[in-house]
Amino acid sequence: MKTIGVLTSGGDAPGMNAAIRAVVRSAIYNKIQVYGIRRGYEGLLEGDIEEMEVSSVSDIIQRGGTMLRTARSEEFMEPAGFQRALDMLENFGINGLVVIGGDGSLRGGLELSKAGIKVMGLPGTIDNDLAYTEFSIGFDTAVNTVLSAISNIRDTSSSHGRCTVVEVMGRNCGDIALYSGLAGGAEYILTPEEEVDITAICKKIIQGKNRGKLHSLVIRAEGVALGSSELADMIECRTGLETRVVVLGYTQRGGSPTARDRILASRMGYRAVELLLSDSSSRAIGIKGAEIIDIDLMEALEMKRVWNGSIMDLADILSI
Ligand code: ATP
Repeated sequence: MKTIGVLTSGGDAPGMNAAIRAVVRSAIYNKIQVYGIRRGYEGLLEGDIEEMEVSSVSDIIQRGGTMLRTARSEEFMEPAGFQRALDMLENFGINGLVVIGGDGSLRGGLELSKAGIKVMGLPGTIDNDLAYTEFSIGFDTAVNTVLSAISNIRDTSSSHGRCTVVEVMGRNCGDIALYSGLAGGAEYILTPEEEVDITAICKKIIQGKNRGKLHSLVIRAEGVALGSSELADMIECRTGLETRVVVLGYTQRGGSPTARDRILASRMGYRAVELLLSDSSSRAIGIKGAEIIDIDLMEALEMKRVWNGSIMDLADILSI
């Protein structure tokens, strides 16, 4: 294993830069040549590839986004495009690849691994929707971004005695809503994993109002079937409280990564290079408890997510 590549693919996530830095520096430390592949698989098949030096990754650990940029590539999923990607890897002599991205990106990596490339997958997505790892790179930063928005909303919401529905990211996975809702003391958290019980929501809001609460906060993940405006209308109609909607949108994707994300990314990036050095087969890198783990890439992608109902129960109890 003498030459490796690193790419970021799919949606960007804060901490991807820290992961790239860790991969590049760990490789150079171990005297391995390392190439940065720009714009994910799209850049790979176009040969948008550059050798990385120690200084190529200077001053990026604190930055959100990804210095290698990212893309989604339809062409890579076609046989001809896929073959071009393989040819590029061969041209550059790259026999080990670190892929940083979400489920789709890691699936792309799995296809490359079936074609003989050693692939290490790093979970880079704010959604935290990969089953094999407790946390993904970018999730903690996104939760903290939501939390800071919630704090601001709470101030104005209290001043006016309003209810606010805060829409956060999460089409299939409610973790951003769940963790930011618990940390932000939301009255109610709605996720795609659980049914919406409008009667229970309104009952809780009225209970709070009756004991003198000045505001109510409902966090709704974007993937919940009942839309934010419909939800707000229903709450206003049933509780009599003026209810506003705030959609946080892409603010959740950016920003300087938290210490936790930088540390996670650094540890995972280092582990990926370690595994490539040991000539391991393709693996997915994750975290369980305090330990960085690695498991077979295919097995990792076959795992089904288990919904953390106990955190939801806790949030529910603490927001009585
Ligand atoms: P996010 O969680 O932010 O959506 P992601 O990595 O899941 O990130 P996708 O758009 O699903 O984002 O995937 C990124 C790219 O990976 C795709 O554009 C495509 O090039 C490649 N890819 C996705 N799924 C596959 C697959 N099954 N086989 C081969 N390549 C794939």
